[in-house]
Order: sequence, then C-alpha cells, then structure tokens
Amino acid sequence: MELKYDLESITSHTVANTTGIGRGNAGAISLRNFTIAIDSTIYAKTAQIFRYNLEKHFNLPIKFLIFTHYHADHIFGIGPFTDVVTISSEQMIRNMKSKSIKDQYEIRVKEFQKEDPLAEGVEFKLPNIGFNEKLIIYDEDLHIEVLHTGGHTSGTSIVYFPYEKVVFAGDLIFANYFPYAGDPTCNPNKYIEALEIMKSLNAEIIIPGHGVVLKGKNALDIYIEFFKNFRKSIKNAIKENVSPEKVEIPHTFDTFRDELKTRSIEHWYKFFQNE
Ligand SMILES: [Zn+2]
Repeated sequence: MELKYDLESITSHTVANTTGIGRGNAGAISLRNFTIAIDSTIYAKTAQIFRYNLEKHFNLPIKFLIFTHYHADHIFGIGPFTDVVTISSEQMIRNMKSKSIKDQYEIRVKEFQKEDPLAEGVEFKLPNIGFNEKLIIYDEDLHIEVLHTGGHTSGTSIVYFPYEKVVFAGDLIFANYFPYAGDPTCNPNKYIEALEIMKSLNAEIIIPGHGVVLKGKNALDIYIEFFKNFRKSIKNAIKENVSPEKVEIPHTFDTFRDELKTRSIEHWYKFFQNE
C-alpha cells in the first residue's frame, strides 16, 4: 500500500495533517517568502512526504522546523529536514540532553526500528536553535510567535500566527480526548496556565497535537474547565486518602489510550501529594 501524507488546507497560510498517520499531528505556516513547518511526525517516511507536499502546496522553500516538545511522535521524523534550521525552546533541548530522557530515547530509536517496518531512518536529534520564553520570526508584513509555555512537558511551546488567528497547540490539546499529562516533566499547574495563555491569544483556530482542528474563540473553554476539574478531583482524593486507581475523574472526554490516562492520573497525584 502506498503511504500517503495529505495536507489539509486550514487557512490560506496554514496546513495540517490531523489523521494520526504520523502519530503526532504536523502542520505548517507559510509567510511571504518561506514556510515554517511545525513538528516532524514520528516517521522519517511520513516526514519526507510531508515535506514534499508542503513545498508543492505553498510553492515556497521550508526555512524552519519548529518542535512543540520532545516526544517521539513529534521529533523522530527530523531526518528529511536536515538542511532546514530546527528550533525549539531551550528547555526542550535541556529535556533531550537530560540523562534519563537521552538514555531512554536512544534505546527507543533502535527498538522502534526493529518493531515497526515504517520506522527506518527515525532519529533522536537535537534542534539547531533554542530560545527562551518567546521567539518571533518575521517575513515582510507577517510574523509568527513561538511561546514557551511548559505544561504537557517542561519544554512545551505553542506557535501563534496572528494574521490568521491560528494556534498550533502541540500536545497541550488532544482534541476530544483525555490527554496525556503524565510526562515526568509535566507540571499540572503550568498545563492549566498554558491553556489560559493560549486562550488569551483569542485565536479562532486551534491545531492540536492529536485529533481534529478546533474552531471558534471558545473552543478552549471545555479543556480549561476539564483540567481544573481534574486537578480538583486529584486534590480531593489526596485529602480524603483515596488511592490514584480510585480517583473519580471528569468524564468529559473519551480515553485516548488507557495506559496514558493511568500514567497521567498517577503523575498528577504524585505532583499534588508533594506540592
Ligand atoms: Zn506529547
């Protein structure tokens, strides 16, 4: 079967693929003279088709690739972008250099290539440029803002394109799903703050790290409310000595993957126990 990685036109300057074919969503923003890609999918093979289709779609060179966070399904496809300047928060680079993550991911790259026939060429490779807090890229009258918010991971960033009011949310949003919030570097309070920062941008279109595109100024409200209720349930459970397995969490969303949900609950429980 021929592998496809079609790009959905979201606005006249933005595209994305939210089908899950490359696991994590990927997308791009075209400015006047060049395109900026966001996340690389988990496979070099999908990344290669992503790049080809992106150049064809906008008919502009790709100058930058921004990573929203260090998780495999957003960075392993870096290979076909070797000649492009890759960017992330400085904290994401620190995440990737930390011994525990580096050791784990170097093994993961090898095992993934053995397990999955599509995984040939995947890499765990550091970005070229790290920024603190905020990075702005200009091209004539247009610009994008990359904001380091933390939350899903301590190095998580979002990408905002004010001209068309579009935000690339990375994994701060799993559209219509209980998200993965169990990364060792995930700070639950920062997670909620990050969503509030995103909301304050007044974007009309949110492109998530997993799942479909969200539309409308109030699209984030349900997520903010969910996370606040989730935090409340966890804090109550700790106060009442209810174990993590028995915490009643809000039923707002379907489960993305059971294992990720369990890890998220355990992580938030431990976090607030030690707070
Ligand atoms: Zn992630």
